[in-house]
Amino acid sequence: MLSLIRLPRVFTINQVPKVFHEDSIISGYRHPHSSATDCILSLFQMTNETLNIWTHFLPTWYFLWKLVTVLLMQTPWQNSFIWPLVVFLLSCCIYPLASSCAHTFSTMSARARHICFFFDYGALSFYSLGSAIIYSAYVFPDKWVSSSFHRWYIPIAVFNTVICTFLACYSRLGLPFLQYNHDIVKRFPEYQSPKFSKFLRVAAFAYPYLFDNIPLFYRVFLCVGEGCTDNGTNILHYKHIALAFLTGFLFATHLPERLAPGSFDYIGHSHQLFHVCSVLGTHFQMQALEQDMVTRRPWLVHNSFPITFSNSGGPALFCVLLNLAIIALFSLPLLSAPVCKEKDHGKGPKKASAKPRPCC
Ligand SMILES: [Zn+2]
Repeated sequence: MLSLIRLPRVFTINQVPKVFHEDSIISGYRHPHSSATDCILSLFQMTNETLNIWTHFLPTWYFLWKLVTVLLMQTPWQNSFIWPLVVFLLSCCIYPLASSCAHTFSTMSARARHICFFFDYGALSFYSLGSAIIYSAYVFPDKWVSSSFHRWYIPIAVFNTVICTFLACYSRLGLPFLQYNHDIVKRFPEYQSPKFSKFLRVAAFAYPYLFDNIPLFYRVFLCVGEGCTDNGTNILHYKHIALAFLTGFLFATHLPERLAPGSFDYIGHSHQLFHVCSVLGTHFQMQALEQDMVTRRPWLVHNSFPITFSNSGGPALFCVLLNLAIIALFSLPLLSAPVCKEKDHGKGPKKASAKPRPCC
């Protein structure tokens, strides 16, 4: 039975268009015009994306289990204090799910690749807002609770998600309508200036992360004396922060594959390690937040703003709408791109059908 399923071929870097190239990854590329079925089948063969997919797909189920447990055990419809936790857990389910879908279907075409990763960036941006909403509710140090900064923290975080998603999408193709071109593979900024493009993308995610963590960094690294909320949860926060910085380092440096191109194509390259560190970081962050929520609850209920829809579910919903609008803005010009005959990219990938395909 298994022999009836023919797994798709894989290719080397010279056999696929430049838009599909990954820094220092030489082999294991899937066909640049894979069908949806081929993409799903590729989950069960070793390609340079297989572990990228599984390292986010499996944790999605773990985070979903955490969310369902909270929904069933803590009855959030009767208890608004839990709402920030629900929003945060939802964002923790969405970002690995969007990432695993993006990695699965990104080889259907160049434009599918761009759109897939636009959604991936939007989901990461939503996760950053989820973190801000829950930090505002349970993490702010005692002495900052109900301050002006606390009051403006969530609105600024919402604004940051717009900057984050816009910059990350811009880093792939430039500005929609103004800089997009029919021959996108040759014109996009990532190809013309990969270092600047990478810098923009790192900045797009580092900036909201650093902003969201201002109250936590102050609490665990700078604050001294009364009102610093120096409790047993801090050790979990340290673990999360260390993993978050390791995650950023791996994403920015492309280590270890940069030291030995071609040696980590299938197992051990930076993107897989980046996924694993991000998930472990989220796990420790979740533990820390749950512990803060439980231990600080009596104090927060009396001293902080009441938790309402306008500082939990409302900004989250608004952020989802804003992010979808930005993704649509960057995707629509791609979807309306002209149709041309499929080009043969190098000696490798060829499809039996010669039916017209989009240029990008
Ligand atoms: Zn990824």
